[in-house]
Amino acid sequence: MVIQTAAGGQDNELLSATMRQIEFAADKMGLESGLLKILSKPKRTLTVSIPVRMDDGSTEVFEGYRVQHNLSLGPAKGGIRFHPDVNMEEVIALAMLMTYKCAVVNIPYGGAKGGVICNPKDLSLSELERLTRRFTSEISIIIGPEKDIPAPDVYTNPQIMAWIMDTFSMQHGFSMPAVVTGKPIEIGGSEGRNEATGLGVVYTIEEAAARMKMDLSGAIVVVQGFGNVGSVAALALEQLGSKIIAVSDSKGGIFDEKSLNITAVSEYKKQTGSVVEYPNSSLIANEELLALDCDILVLAALENQINEENANQINAKLVAEGANGPTTYRGDQILNQRGIIVIPDILANAGGVVVSYFEWVQGIQHFFWTEAEVKRQLQRRMSTSFGEVYDICTDQGVSMRTAAYILALSRVTKAMSIRGLYP
Ligand code: NAD
Repeated sequence: MVIQTAAGGQDNELLSATMRQIEFAADKMGLESGLLKILSKPKRTLTVSIPVRMDDGSTEVFEGYRVQHNLSLGPAKGGIRFHPDVNMEEVIALAMLMTYKCAVVNIPYGGAKGGVICNPKDLSLSELERLTRRFTSEISIIIGPEKDIPAPDVYTNPQIMAWIMDTFSMQHGFSMPAVVTGKPIEIGGSEGRNEATGLGVVYTIEEAAARMKMDLSGAIVVVQGFGNVGSVAALALEQLGSKIIAVSDSKGGIFDEKSLNITAVSEYKKQTGSVVEYPNSSLIANEELLALDCDILVLAALENQINEENANQINAKLVAEGANGPTTYRGDQILNQRGIIVIPDILANAGGVVVSYFEWVQGIQHFFWTEAEVKRQLQRRMSTSFGEVYDICTDQGVSMRTAAYILALSRVTKAMSIRGLYP
């Protein structure tokens, strides 16, 4: 099926998987077709051209996007990704995922996403700052604390969020910390934000493990993507007694059947830029890593990692999607047929947007919480949401992913129906 997007572009794997999944859940719910039609298009897409003065005096022009998918539940919320593979269709799909992610964990936001086609590893710090500031200026016509609140995503970080906050504030003449989340603590960031997504993944794994009667102490874990999400999840699982036998990053993977020491691997990655060649481990290719015999596979890298070609090789009992869209539609069907439980992205990795929401609330109230309070509230929300999804899953005999979409779609479409169709 080829989906024409509002941007006029063609289908991509993530967008088509997301659309098919939503259609499947909508069908199960008997959702009115008009509502589904509205949700199949983003509300607003913006493409911007970003001219940047490079350090050598030349000018480069980058392309960036901001997409707002649906605003029925509140202002738009979603990260900004700096990556060479960014494209409009992917940004639309990620914005859609944000709408449903916010709805699953019951926070009053709509979905958005942004991205710039660039490789930040090829840019100096000052080039990255100029790129970020000009991009912010270009999208400032649609973002704002009550309109659309960006956050970090792949290859963007608290420093980049600080530049976004500063640029937006300079344009308005006063400080507006609530325009962006994932900021450094010193300028209104929240305690616990950096760890939120990885911890949220682990809170959902704990809920799933309890229902599967799986003991996390001694459980064998594999983590694809040892970045912000993957490294935090790995550490938290290690602290629960799990054995992390393999982790990877974009340069490759490492394996130790007796278990890796995650604190030491993190330190090694900090020093060398990669986990590869960490002492006392052997190298492992991505495909082999995904196929390792384990209890829990955490996917925390990029999209489309489990697909039709490799889904039959997965040897995990539980897959937790820390990344957005790491499993294709067909890959997901195969995992379901094989009885492998998948905690879907819109639930598993929602911890980031939950604590982003806490950061936004704290910023608006100018009243900041302790780290313990943030974690307590995060765990409460992730556990409640997991339970709500799990109940739909068992009551209706559907997968966790379909159950999560049923819950999210029912919240979003109820809001749409109550608000009515303008004019
Ligand atoms: P990050 O940039 O910190 O980490 C990504 C990691 O994946 C890096 O270590 C990178 O080297 C690795 N990687 C890239 N390609 C790989 C490959 N082919 N094989 C193995 N590893 C590879 O980003 P992050 O913030 O940890 O985000 C990871 C995923 O989680 C993304 O899909 C992102 O959209 C999603 N996510 C992040 C957050 C958040 O709060 N950071 C929230 C929700 C979802």
